[in-house]
Amino acid sequence: MSRLMMKFGGTSVGSAAAIQQVVDVVRQHLAEGHNLALVVSAMAGVTDLLLESAAAATSGDHDRLRVIGGIIRDKHYAVIETLIADASLRESSRNEVDSLLRAHMDLCDAIGIKGASTPEASDAIVSFGERLSSRVIAAVMSAQDLRVKQFDSSQFIITDDNFQDADPLWELTEARVIDGLLPEIDSVTPVITGFIGSTPDGKLTTLGRGGSDFIAAIFAAYLACDELIIWTDVDGVMTTDPRLDERARVLPYVSYQEIGELAYYGAKVLHPKTVQPIVNRQIPLRVRNTFNPSHAGTLVGARRHASATVIKAITSVKNVSMLTVSGAGMLGVPGIAGRTFLASARAGANILMISQASSEQSFCFTVIDPMAGAVKAAVERELQREIAQNDVDSVDVMRDIVIITVVGSGMRGTPGVAGRVFSLLGARDINVLAIAQGSSECSISFIIAEEDLTRAVTELHSLALETVEIDRVNGNGSPY
Ligand code: ASP
Ligand code: MG
Repeated sequence: MSRLMMKFGGTSVGSAAAIQQVVDVVRQHLAEGHNLALVVSAMAGVTDLLLESAAAATSGDHDRLRVIGGIIRDKHYAVIETLIADASLRESSRNEVDSLLRAHMDLCDAIGIKGASTPEASDAIVSFGERLSSRVIAAVMSAQDLRVKQFDSSQFIITDDNFQDADPLWELTEARVIDGLLPEIDSVTPVITGFIGSTPDGKLTTLGRGGSDFIAAIFAAYLACDELIIWTDVDGVMTTDPRLDERARVLPYVSYQEIGELAYYGAKVLHPKTVQPIVNRQIPLRVRNTFNPSHAGTLVGARRHASATVIKAITSVKNVSMLTVSGAGMLGVPGIAGRTFLASARAGANILMISQASSEQSFCFTVIDPMAGAVKAAVERELQREIAQNDVDSVDVMRDIVIITVVGSGMRGTPGVAGRVFSLLGARDINVLAIAQGSSECSISFIIAEEDLTRAVTELHSLALETVEIDRVNGNGSPY
Protein backbone atom coordinates (compact mmCIF):
# COMPACT_ATOMS: atom_id res chain seq x y z
CA MET A 1 0.00 0.00 0.00
CA SER A 2 1.30 3.43 -0.93
CA ARG A 3 0.30 6.86 0.17
CA LEU A 4 -0.35 8.94 -2.95
CA MET A 5 -0.91 12.66 -3.35
CA MET A 6 -3.04 13.30 -6.44
CA LYS A 7 -3.63 16.69 -7.95
CA PHE A 8 -6.34 17.25 -10.55
CA GLY A 9 -6.01 20.32 -12.77
CA GLY A 10 -8.67 22.67 -14.13
CA THR A 11 -9.60 20.64 -17.22
CA SER A 12 -9.62 17.42 -15.21
CA VAL A 13 -12.38 18.94 -13.09
CA GLY A 14 -13.80 21.14 -15.87
CA SER A 15 -17.15 19.41 -16.41
CA ALA A 16 -19.44 16.75 -14.98
CA ALA A 17 -18.00 14.16 -17.36
CA ALA A 18 -14.42 15.06 -16.39
CA ILE A 19 -15.23 14.93 -12.68
CA GLN A 20 -16.83 11.51 -13.11
CA GLN A 21 -13.55 10.43 -14.68
CA VAL A 22 -11.72 11.76 -11.61
CA VAL A 23 -14.06 9.83 -9.31
CA ASP A 24 -13.33 6.65 -11.26
CA VAL A 25 -9.56 7.18 -11.10
CA VAL A 26 -9.78 7.78 -7.35
CA ARG A 27 -12.03 4.79 -6.77
CA GLN A 28 -9.69 2.53 -8.67
CA HIS A 29 -6.62 3.63 -6.71
CA LEU A 30 -8.49 3.17 -3.44
CA ALA A 31 -9.55 -0.29 -4.55
CA GLU A 32 -5.90 -1.11 -5.18
CA GLY A 33 -5.37 -0.41 -1.50
CA HIS A 34 -3.67 2.98 -1.73
CA ASN A 35 -4.08 5.75 0.75
CA LEU A 36 -4.93 9.01 -1.04
CA ALA A 37 -5.03 12.75 -0.54
CA LEU A 38 -6.40 14.95 -3.32
CA VAL A 39 -5.73 18.54 -4.34
CA VAL A 40 -8.06 20.10 -6.89
CA SER A 41 -7.91 23.18 -9.10
CA ALA A 42 -10.81 25.46 -9.89
CA MET A 43 -13.02 24.25 -12.75
CA ALA A 44 -11.42 25.26 -16.07
CA GLY A 45 -12.00 28.94 -16.84
CA VAL A 46 -13.26 29.88 -13.39
CA THR A 47 -10.04 31.53 -12.15
CA ASP A 48 -10.02 33.75 -15.24
CA LEU A 49 -13.68 34.65 -14.71
CA LEU A 50 -13.00 35.54 -11.08
CA LEU A 51 -10.11 37.79 -12.08
CA GLU A 52 -12.42 39.43 -14.56
CA SER A 53 -14.98 39.91 -11.80
CA ALA A 54 -12.45 41.91 -9.79
CA ALA A 55 -11.92 44.17 -12.80
CA ALA A 56 -15.67 44.49 -13.39
CA ALA A 57 -16.17 45.35 -9.71
CA THR A 58 -13.51 48.05 -9.91
CA SER A 59 -15.14 49.68 -12.91
CA GLY A 60 -18.62 49.31 -11.42
CA ASP A 61 -19.82 47.04 -14.25
CA HIS A 62 -22.69 45.38 -12.38
CA ASP A 63 -24.17 43.72 -15.43
CA ARG A 64 -20.96 41.90 -16.22
CA LEU A 65 -20.60 40.88 -12.58
CA ARG A 66 -24.03 39.32 -12.61
CA VAL A 67 -23.24 37.47 -15.82
CA ILE A 68 -19.96 36.13 -14.39
CA GLY A 69 -21.67 35.04 -11.17
CA GLY A 70 -24.30 33.24 -13.28
CA ILE A 71 -21.73 31.40 -15.43
CA ILE A 72 -19.79 30.21 -12.39
CA ARG A 73 -22.96 29.09 -10.62
CA ASP A 74 -24.22 27.19 -13.67
CA LYS A 75 -20.92 25.34 -14.13
CA HIS A 76 -21.09 24.01 -10.57
CA TYR A 77 -24.83 23.39 -10.65
CA ALA A 78 -24.41 21.30 -13.80
CA VAL A 79 -21.96 19.03 -11.99
CA ILE A 80 -24.29 18.70 -9.03
CA GLU A 81 -27.33 17.94 -11.26
CA THR A 82 -25.50 15.33 -13.26
CA LEU A 83 -23.49 13.52 -10.63
CA ILE A 84 -25.43 13.66 -7.37
CA ALA A 85 -28.49 11.41 -7.46
CA ASP A 86 -29.85 12.09 -3.98
CA ALA A 87 -32.20 15.12 -3.95
CA SER A 88 -31.34 16.36 -0.47
CA LEU A 89 -27.59 16.08 -1.06
CA ARG A 90 -28.08 18.01 -4.27
CA GLU A 91 -29.96 20.69 -2.40
CA SER A 92 -27.29 21.11 0.27
CA SER A 93 -24.50 21.17 -2.29
CA ARG A 94 -26.31 23.90 -4.27
CA ASN A 95 -26.73 25.86 -1.05
CA GLU A 96 -23.00 25.71 -0.43
CA VAL A 97 -22.36 27.05 -3.92
CA ASP A 98 -24.86 29.84 -3.40
CA SER A 99 -23.42 30.96 -0.09
CA LEU A 100 -19.86 31.07 -1.48
CA LEU A 101 -21.05 33.05 -4.48
CA ARG A 102 -22.82 35.50 -2.17
CA ALA A 103 -19.57 35.97 -0.27
CA HIS A 104 -17.84 36.55 -3.60
CA MET A 105 -20.39 39.22 -4.55
CA ASP A 106 -19.98 40.91 -1.16
CA LEU A 107 -16.25 41.19 -1.81
CA CYS A 108 -16.90 42.58 -5.27
CA ASP A 109 -19.26 45.15 -3.76
CA ALA A 110 -16.56 46.19 -1.29
CA ILE A 111 -14.13 46.67 -4.19
CA GLY A 112 -16.78 48.64 -6.07
CA ILE A 113 -17.24 51.01 -3.13
CA LYS A 114 -13.50 51.61 -2.89
CA GLY A 115 -13.25 51.90 -6.66
CA ALA A 116 -9.98 49.95 -6.65
CA SER A 117 -8.82 46.39 -6.26
CA THR A 118 -5.59 45.41 -4.52
CA PRO A 119 -3.47 42.27 -4.87
CA GLU A 120 -4.85 41.23 -1.50
CA ALA A 121 -8.46 41.68 -2.61
CA SER A 122 -7.70 39.88 -5.86
CA ASP A 123 -6.40 36.83 -3.99
CA ALA A 124 -9.50 36.73 -1.81
CA ILE A 125 -11.63 36.87 -4.95
CA VAL A 126 -9.84 34.16 -6.95
CA SER A 127 -9.79 31.85 -3.93
CA PHE A 128 -13.46 31.11 -4.60
CA GLY A 129 -12.62 28.99 -7.64
CA GLU A 130 -10.91 26.26 -5.63
CA ARG A 131 -13.22 26.70 -2.64
CA LEU A 132 -16.19 25.98 -4.90
CA SER A 133 -14.69 23.12 -6.92
CA SER A 134 -13.34 21.26 -3.89
CA ARG A 135 -16.70 21.35 -2.13
CA VAL A 136 -18.67 20.22 -5.15
CA ILE A 137 -16.17 17.44 -5.91
CA ALA A 138 -16.20 16.25 -2.31
CA ALA A 139 -20.01 16.25 -2.37
CA VAL A 140 -20.03 14.20 -5.58
CA MET A 141 -17.55 11.72 -4.15
CA SER A 142 -19.40 11.25 -0.93
CA ALA A 143 -22.70 10.91 -2.82
CA GLN A 144 -20.93 8.12 -4.71
CA ASP A 145 -19.91 6.41 -1.47
CA LEU A 146 -16.28 7.47 -1.16
CA ARG A 147 -15.15 8.47 2.32
CA VAL A 148 -13.89 11.99 1.70
CA LYS A 149 -13.61 15.25 3.61
CA GLN A 150 -13.16 18.73 2.16
CA PHE A 151 -10.38 21.06 3.39
CA ASP A 152 -9.23 24.56 2.46
CA SER A 153 -5.46 24.60 1.91
CA SER A 154 -5.35 28.05 3.54
CA GLN A 155 -5.74 26.23 6.88
CA PHE A 156 -2.37 24.58 6.35
CA ILE A 157 -0.30 26.49 3.81
CA ILE A 158 1.05 29.50 5.67
CA THR A 159 2.75 32.04 3.42
CA ASP A 160 4.39 35.43 3.30
CA ASP A 161 2.22 38.38 2.24
CA ASN A 162 3.47 38.57 -1.32
CA PHE A 163 -0.10 38.44 -2.60
CA GLN A 164 -0.67 36.75 -5.99
CA ASP A 165 2.69 34.98 -5.83
CA ALA A 166 3.15 34.07 -2.19
CA ASP A 167 5.83 31.74 -0.91
CA PRO A 168 5.26 29.26 1.89
CA LEU A 169 6.70 29.76 5.35
CA TRP A 170 8.00 26.25 5.51
CA GLU A 171 8.17 25.53 9.22
CA LEU A 172 4.75 26.92 10.05
CA THR A 173 3.29 25.04 7.13
CA GLU A 174 4.93 21.77 8.10
CA ALA A 175 3.59 22.03 11.63
CA ARG A 176 0.06 22.79 10.42
CA VAL A 177 0.04 19.88 7.98
CA ILE A 178 1.38 17.43 10.52
CA ASP A 179 -0.97 18.53 13.28
CA GLY A 180 -4.08 19.16 11.22
CA LEU A 181 -4.04 16.91 8.18
CA LEU A 182 -1.80 13.94 8.81
CA PRO A 183 -4.05 12.48 11.55
CA GLU A 184 -7.00 12.47 9.11
CA ILE A 185 -5.62 10.63 6.15
CA ASP A 186 -5.84 7.08 7.42
CA SER A 187 -9.59 7.35 7.87
CA VAL A 188 -10.73 9.63 5.02
CA THR A 189 -9.53 10.88 1.66
CA PRO A 190 -8.99 14.63 2.00
CA VAL A 191 -10.20 16.76 -0.93
CA ILE A 192 -8.15 19.92 -0.61
CA THR A 193 -8.20 23.20 -2.50
CA GLY A 194 -5.15 24.05 -4.55
CA PHE A 195 -3.82 27.55 -5.18
CA ILE A 196 -4.51 29.21 -1.81
CA GLY A 197 -2.64 29.82 1.40
CA SER A 198 -2.92 32.36 4.16
CA THR A 199 -0.61 34.71 6.00
CA PRO A 200 0.11 33.99 9.69
CA ASP A 201 -2.58 36.58 10.54
CA GLY A 202 -5.13 34.85 8.34
CA LYS A 203 -5.26 36.86 5.11
CA LEU A 204 -5.84 34.71 2.02
CA THR A 205 -2.99 34.50 -0.48
CA THR A 206 -2.39 32.58 -3.71
CA LEU A 207 0.78 30.89 -4.86
CA GLY A 208 0.71 32.21 -8.42
CA ARG A 209 -1.17 31.04 -11.51
CA GLY A 210 -0.96 27.29 -11.75
CA GLY A 211 -0.06 27.21 -8.06
CA SER A 212 -2.14 24.13 -7.29
CA ASP A 213 0.77 21.94 -8.44
CA PHE A 214 3.03 23.62 -5.91
CA ILE A 215 0.44 23.20 -3.15
CA ALA A 216 0.09 19.50 -3.95
CA ALA A 217 3.87 19.07 -3.79
CA ILE A 218 3.99 20.75 -0.39
CA PHE A 219 1.36 18.36 0.93
CA ALA A 220 3.12 15.41 -0.67
CA ALA A 221 6.29 16.35 1.19
CA TYR A 222 4.79 16.92 4.63
CA LEU A 223 2.42 13.97 4.43
CA ALA A 224 5.45 11.84 3.46
CA CYS A 225 3.71 10.54 0.36
CA ASP A 226 5.29 7.81 -1.72
CA GLU A 227 4.40 9.58 -4.94
CA LEU A 228 2.88 12.80 -6.25
CA ILE A 229 0.66 12.37 -9.29
CA ILE A 230 -0.30 15.45 -11.29
CA TRP A 231 -3.38 14.55 -13.34
CA THR A 232 -3.78 16.82 -16.34
CA ASP A 233 -5.15 16.77 -19.89
CA VAL A 234 -2.07 15.58 -21.78
CA ASP A 235 -0.28 12.24 -21.66
CA GLY A 236 2.84 13.62 -20.02
CA VAL A 237 5.82 15.92 -20.49
CA MET A 238 6.53 16.22 -24.19
CA THR A 239 9.67 16.64 -26.24
CA THR A 240 8.24 19.93 -27.49
CA ASP A 241 4.98 21.81 -27.89
CA PRO A 242 2.91 19.71 -30.34
CA ARG A 243 1.45 22.91 -31.77
CA LEU A 244 4.94 23.82 -32.99
CA ASP A 245 5.90 20.35 -34.18
CA GLU A 246 3.40 17.54 -34.46
CA ARG A 247 6.12 14.91 -34.07
CA ALA A 248 6.23 15.79 -30.34
CA ARG A 249 6.13 12.75 -28.09
CA VAL A 250 5.83 11.95 -24.44
CA LEU A 251 9.05 11.55 -22.46
CA PRO A 252 8.90 8.51 -20.18
CA TYR A 253 11.44 9.92 -17.74
CA VAL A 254 12.64 13.42 -16.83
CA SER A 255 14.89 14.39 -13.93
CA TYR A 256 13.86 16.94 -11.27
CA GLN A 257 16.40 19.32 -12.70
CA GLU A 258 15.16 18.96 -16.24
CA ILE A 259 11.53 19.48 -15.29
CA GLY A 260 12.55 22.62 -13.39
CA GLU A 261 14.17 24.07 -16.50
CA LEU A 262 11.29 22.98 -18.72
CA ALA A 263 8.67 24.55 -16.49
CA TYR A 264 10.64 27.76 -16.04
CA TYR A 265 11.24 28.12 -19.75
CA GLY A 266 7.76 27.80 -21.04
CA ALA A 267 6.52 24.21 -20.85
CA LYS A 268 3.12 24.72 -19.31
CA VAL A 269 2.87 21.27 -17.70
CA LEU A 270 3.89 22.21 -14.17
CA HIS A 271 4.24 25.24 -11.93
CA PRO A 272 8.00 25.93 -11.88
CA LYS A 273 8.23 25.56 -8.10
CA THR A 274 6.55 22.15 -7.99
CA VAL A 275 9.71 20.14 -7.46
CA GLN A 276 11.06 22.37 -4.65
CA PRO A 277 9.30 20.60 -1.78
CA ILE A 278 9.83 17.06 -3.06
CA VAL A 279 13.35 17.09 -4.40
CA ASN A 280 15.18 16.61 -1.10
CA ARG A 281 12.79 13.90 -0.03
CA GLN A 282 13.18 12.25 -3.43
CA ILE A 283 9.44 11.82 -3.80
CA PRO A 284 8.77 10.74 -7.38
CA LEU A 285 6.33 12.81 -9.40
CA ARG A 286 4.25 11.48 -12.22
CA VAL A 287 2.41 13.53 -14.83
CA ARG A 288 -0.63 11.65 -16.11
CA ASN A 289 -3.69 12.21 -18.26
CA THR A 290 -7.09 12.01 -16.54
CA PHE A 291 -8.68 11.37 -19.92
CA ASN A 292 -6.28 8.58 -20.85
CA PRO A 293 -5.56 6.86 -17.55
CA SER A 294 -4.07 3.75 -19.12
CA HIS A 295 -1.08 5.81 -20.33
CA ALA A 296 1.78 5.62 -17.84
CA GLY A 297 2.64 9.31 -18.30
CA THR A 298 6.00 10.87 -17.46
CA LEU A 299 7.93 9.97 -14.35
CA VAL A 300 9.96 12.77 -12.80
CA GLY A 301 12.68 11.64 -10.45
CA ALA A 302 16.15 12.05 -9.13
CA ARG A 303 18.26 9.92 -11.45
CA ARG A 304 20.20 12.43 -13.48
CA HIS A 305 21.75 10.25 -16.12
CA ALA A 306 18.72 8.16 -16.73
CA SER A 307 19.47 7.87 -20.38
CA ALA A 308 21.87 8.46 -23.19
CA THR A 309 19.60 11.26 -24.29
CA VAL A 310 21.59 14.43 -24.45
CA ILE A 311 18.93 16.75 -25.76
CA LYS A 312 15.56 15.81 -24.40
CA ALA A 313 13.20 18.66 -25.00
CA ILE A 314 12.86 22.07 -26.63
CA THR A 315 10.72 24.81 -25.08
CA SER A 316 10.02 28.40 -25.98
CA VAL A 317 8.84 31.53 -24.24
CA LYS A 318 6.99 34.08 -26.30
CA ASN A 319 5.94 37.64 -25.45
CA VAL A 320 9.32 38.65 -24.12
CA SER A 321 11.54 41.65 -24.84
CA MET A 322 15.29 41.89 -24.71
CA LEU A 323 16.92 44.91 -23.15
CA THR A 324 20.52 45.74 -23.93
CA VAL A 325 22.74 47.97 -21.85
CA SER A 326 25.86 48.93 -23.73
CA GLY A 327 28.50 51.60 -23.95
CA ALA A 328 32.22 51.93 -24.46
CA GLY A 329 32.63 53.36 -20.98
CA MET A 330 31.24 50.30 -19.26
CA LEU A 331 34.45 48.37 -19.38
CA GLY A 332 35.90 48.28 -15.92
CA VAL A 333 33.08 50.27 -14.36
CA PRO A 334 31.95 47.93 -11.62
CA GLY A 335 28.42 47.58 -10.53
CA ILE A 336 26.53 48.56 -13.66
CA ALA A 337 25.04 45.11 -14.08
CA GLY A 338 24.19 44.91 -10.39
CA ARG A 339 22.47 48.29 -10.41
CA THR A 340 20.59 47.43 -13.59
CA PHE A 341 19.16 44.24 -12.13
CA LEU A 342 18.26 45.90 -8.86
CA ALA A 343 16.45 48.67 -10.71
CA SER A 344 14.61 46.04 -12.78
CA ALA A 345 13.62 44.15 -9.66
CA ARG A 346 12.33 47.32 -8.04
CA ALA A 347 10.24 47.93 -11.17
CA GLY A 348 8.67 44.52 -10.45
CA ALA A 349 10.26 42.60 -13.33
CA ASN A 350 11.30 39.01 -13.25
CA ILE A 351 14.42 38.50 -15.36
CA LEU A 352 14.17 35.38 -17.48
CA MET A 353 17.62 35.28 -19.00
CA ILE A 354 20.87 37.24 -18.81
CA SER A 355 23.80 37.22 -21.17
CA GLN A 356 27.01 39.22 -21.35
CA ALA A 357 29.53 39.56 -24.13
CA SER A 358 33.08 38.91 -22.93
CA SER A 359 34.18 42.37 -24.03
CA GLU A 360 32.16 43.67 -21.07
CA GLN A 361 30.87 46.44 -23.27
CA SER A 362 27.31 45.22 -23.27
CA PHE A 363 24.97 42.82 -21.64
CA CYS A 364 21.38 41.97 -22.31
CA PHE A 365 18.53 40.53 -20.35
CA THR A 366 14.99 39.46 -21.01
CA VAL A 367 11.72 40.34 -19.32
CA ILE A 368 8.10 39.69 -20.23
CA ASP A 369 6.82 42.14 -22.83
CA PRO A 370 4.44 44.21 -20.71
CA MET A 371 7.29 45.05 -18.31
CA ALA A 372 9.77 46.25 -20.94
CA GLY A 373 8.81 49.93 -20.94
CA ALA A 374 8.83 50.25 -17.16
CA VAL A 375 12.15 48.41 -16.86
CA LYS A 376 13.79 50.56 -19.53
CA ALA A 377 12.68 53.71 -17.70
CA ALA A 378 13.82 52.38 -14.32
CA VAL A 379 17.25 51.35 -15.60
CA GLU A 380 17.79 54.64 -17.43
CA ARG A 381 16.91 56.50 -14.27
CA GLU A 382 19.36 54.38 -12.29
CA LEU A 383 22.15 54.92 -14.85
CA GLN A 384 21.30 58.58 -15.42
CA ARG A 385 24.79 59.80 -14.55
CA GLU A 386 26.62 57.25 -16.70
CA ILE A 387 24.29 57.98 -19.61
CA ALA A 388 24.85 61.73 -19.25
CA GLN A 389 28.61 61.12 -19.34
CA ASN A 390 28.24 58.90 -22.42
CA ASP A 391 29.74 55.93 -20.58
CA VAL A 392 26.51 54.07 -21.19
CA ASP A 393 24.15 54.42 -24.15
CA SER A 394 20.42 54.57 -23.66
CA VAL A 395 18.83 51.19 -22.99
CA ASP A 396 17.82 49.42 -26.17
CA VAL A 397 14.58 47.38 -26.23
CA MET A 398 14.09 44.66 -28.81
CA ARG A 399 10.62 43.18 -29.23
CA ASP A 400 9.19 40.27 -31.23
CA ILE A 401 11.76 37.83 -29.99
CA VAL A 402 11.49 34.45 -28.30
CA ILE A 403 13.60 32.51 -25.84
CA ILE A 404 14.26 28.94 -26.92
CA THR A 405 15.59 26.50 -24.35
CA VAL A 406 17.18 23.17 -25.11
CA VAL A 407 16.96 20.89 -22.07
CA GLY A 408 18.71 17.65 -21.16
CA SER A 409 20.87 16.73 -18.22
CA GLY A 410 23.03 14.57 -20.47
CA MET A 411 24.55 17.83 -21.73
CA ARG A 412 26.55 17.93 -18.59
CA GLY A 413 29.84 16.33 -19.38
CA THR A 414 28.97 15.83 -23.03
CA PRO A 415 31.14 18.21 -24.96
CA GLY A 416 29.98 19.72 -28.17
CA VAL A 417 26.26 19.89 -27.52
CA ALA A 418 26.14 23.67 -27.72
CA GLY A 419 28.28 23.48 -30.86
CA ARG A 420 25.82 21.09 -32.46
CA VAL A 421 22.86 23.27 -31.58
CA PHE A 422 24.34 26.46 -32.91
CA SER A 423 25.90 25.04 -36.04
CA LEU A 424 22.53 23.57 -36.92
CA LEU A 425 20.91 26.98 -36.48
CA GLY A 426 23.70 28.61 -38.46
CA ALA A 427 23.31 26.14 -41.29
CA ARG A 428 19.61 27.00 -41.44
CA ASP A 429 20.28 30.77 -41.42
CA ILE A 430 18.62 31.32 -38.09
CA ASN A 431 20.22 34.30 -36.43
CA VAL A 432 20.97 33.90 -32.70
CA LEU A 433 20.80 37.22 -30.83
CA ALA A 434 22.03 36.13 -27.39
CA ILE A 435 22.97 32.93 -25.59
CA ALA A 436 22.98 31.83 -21.96
CA GLN A 437 23.79 28.56 -20.30
CA GLY A 438 22.63 27.90 -16.77
CA SER A 439 25.19 26.76 -14.24
CA SER A 440 23.28 23.51 -13.85
CA GLU A 441 24.50 22.76 -17.39
CA CYS A 442 21.23 21.07 -18.00
CA SER A 443 19.93 23.65 -20.45
CA ILE A 444 21.04 26.18 -23.01
CA SER A 445 18.82 29.17 -23.73
CA PHE A 446 19.08 31.57 -26.60
CA ILE A 447 17.14 34.34 -28.25
CA ILE A 448 15.96 34.51 -31.83
CA ALA A 449 13.44 36.55 -33.79
CA GLU A 450 9.89 35.39 -33.24
CA GLU A 451 9.44 34.74 -36.97
CA ASP A 452 12.10 31.99 -36.75
CA LEU A 453 10.37 30.21 -33.87
CA THR A 454 8.69 27.29 -35.62
CA ARG A 455 11.64 26.61 -37.88
CA ALA A 456 14.15 26.64 -35.03
CA VAL A 457 12.04 24.44 -32.79
CA THR A 458 11.44 21.93 -35.58
CA GLU A 459 15.14 21.70 -36.47
CA LEU A 460 16.27 21.27 -32.87
CA HIS A 461 13.44 18.94 -32.08
CA SER A 462 14.86 16.55 -34.67
CA LEU A 463 17.98 16.28 -32.48
CA ALA A 464 15.84 15.46 -29.45
CA LEU A 465 13.79 12.87 -31.32
CA GLU A 466 16.95 11.22 -32.54
CA THR A 467 18.32 10.66 -29.05
CA VAL A 468 14.94 9.79 -27.54
CA GLU A 469 14.64 7.12 -30.20
CA ILE A 470 18.09 5.74 -29.34
CA ASP A 471 16.93 5.46 -25.73
CA ARG A 472 13.79 3.69 -26.71
CA VAL A 473 15.63 1.14 -28.82
CA ASN A 474 18.19 0.52 -26.08
CA GLY A 475 15.56 0.41 -23.38
CA ASN A 476 17.28 3.28 -21.59
CA GLY A 477 15.57 6.16 -19.93
CA SER A 478 12.37 4.30 -19.44
CA PRO A 479 11.48 3.35 -15.90
CA TYR A 480 8.85 0.88 -17.03
N1 ASP B 1 -6.86 27.81 -10.52
C1 ASP B 1 -5.56 28.40 -10.50
C2 ASP B 1 -5.16 28.86 -11.89
O1 ASP B 1 -5.93 28.74 -12.82
C3 ASP B 1 -4.53 27.51 -9.89
C4 ASP B 1 -4.31 26.19 -10.58
O2 ASP B 1 -5.17 25.70 -11.29
O3 ASP B 1 -3.25 25.61 -10.41
O4 ASP B 1 -4.12 29.41 -12.05
MG1 MG C 1 -1.71 23.84 -14.17
